[in-house]
Amino acid sequence: MKTLGYAAHNNHSPLVPFSFERRELTPTDVRIDILFCGVCHSDIHQVRDEWGSSVFPMVPGHEIIGKVTTVGSAVSAFKPGDTVGVGCLVDSCGTCPECRDHLEQYCNNAIFTYNSPDKHSGGSNYGGYSKQIVVDQQFVLQVSDKLDPAAAAPLLCAGITTYSPLMHWKVGKGDKVGIVGLGGLGHMGVKFAHALGAHVVLFTTSPGKADDAKRLGADEVVVSKNPDEMQKHLASFDFILNTVAAPHNLDAYTALLKRDGTLCLVGVPDKPHPSPAIGNLIFKRRAIAGSLIGGLKETQEMLDFCAEHNITSDIEIIPIQKINEAYERVLKSDVKYRFVIDLASLKPE
Ligand code: NAP
Ligand code: ZN
Repeated sequence: MKTLGYAAHNNHSPLVPFSFERRELTPTDVRIDILFCGVCHSDIHQVRDEWGSSVFPMVPGHEIIGKVTTVGSAVSAFKPGDTVGVGCLVDSCGTCPECRDHLEQYCNNAIFTYNSPDKHSGGSNYGGYSKQIVVDQQFVLQVSDKLDPAAAAPLLCAGITTYSPLMHWKVGKGDKVGIVGLGGLGHMGVKFAHALGAHVVLFTTSPGKADDAKRLGADEVVVSKNPDEMQKHLASFDFILNTVAAPHNLDAYTALLKRDGTLCLVGVPDKPHPSPAIGNLIFKRRAIAGSLIGGLKETQEMLDFCAEHNITSDIEIIPIQKINEAYERVLKSDVKYRFVIDLASLKPE
C-alpha cells in the first residue's frame, strides 16, 4: 500500500515529503492510521548521522499514536477503531533470555521502528513521520481513551525511557531523586518521580525553566552551572537520572550521590562524556549505569499508570511542514517540552 511521509535523504539536508510502500498485512499484523508522532532528540541524532549508523532515505518517528484500520486474520487483541501506540520497537527474536524476560529492547536482534533492517521488504524500515504504519500485534500498545492522543504520543519513548529506570531502581516515597535536563525525557522523568512519591530535584542549564519544573512536580530546582548550588546537595541523592543529549562532566553528579547511589544515563550524546573520576565511585560504592527505553509489557504498564494518574506530556503541536524548524528549536533546548506532529497536516501534493 502506498503511503506518504517526510524523509531525510542525507545527513545535512532538510526533511522533505516522501512516498513509499507499507507492506501487505500478514496474519499477525495491525494497520494503523497515524494521528500524531512525537519528535525525539534521537530522531535528530539519527537524521544528522551522529551515531554513525544512519541509512537514507530515513523516515524518523517512534512516538506514534493512531487508530487501527485493519487487522490480520490471526489478530484478536485489536480491532478497527482502537486507539493504539507504537514506540521504538517493532520486532525482536522472541526466544532469547531478554525476550523471555519481557526486555525486548535488550534483544540482540531487536528491530527498532526506523533505521533498522526491514525483514519484510529488505532495506531499512520507516517510522512514524508518515500517514500509515503496519506493525506486528505484539509490538502494538493499547492507549486508554482517558489520555489525550496527541499528548500521549511522547509516552511511547520519552515516557517509557524515564519510567523504566525509575521502576528498575525502585524509586518511591522517601527517596531523593535528581533529574538532569528539562527536555522531552527530563520533563517526563520529573512527572513520574513526583507521581511515585519521591523528593524530586531538577538540574537544568536553563534558569528560565525553574517555574515550569516546579509546576511539573519538582520540589527543588538547581542550576547546574552554579557550583555553590550543586555543593549544597553533596552525597544526598539515592538516584539521579541524566537525560542530557550532550557530553558533559559526570563527576558533578556522582559526587551528589549517597553511598550506594546510582547515576543512570539515558542521554546518548554524539561524542563520549569526559572520563568520570574513579574516586567518586570507589569511596561511596556509587555506580554509573545506563538504560534503554523499556520492553512491551512495561510500556503497557506505563501507559496504564499514566491513564490512572492522568499523566501525559506537555506538548507543542506542529504541522509536519514545520519539522525542520522544530529540530533547530530542540537543539537550542527551546521546546516546552515535546514537539508532536499532527499528521492531518500531511496531504498528497
Ligand atoms: P531534549 O528534549 O533535547 O532534552 C535534552 C535536555 O538536555 C535539554 O532540554 C537541556 O535541558 C539539556 N541539555 C541540552 N544540551 C545540554 C548541554 N550541552 N549541557 C547540559 N544540558 C544540556 O532531548 P530528549 O528528546 O529528551 O533526549 C535526550 C537524550 O536522550 C538524547 O540524547 C536522546 O537521543 C536520548 N534518548 C535515549 C533513550 C534511551 O532509551 N536511553 C531514549 C530516547 C532518547 P536544560 O535546558 O534543562 O538544561
Ligand atoms: Zn525517542
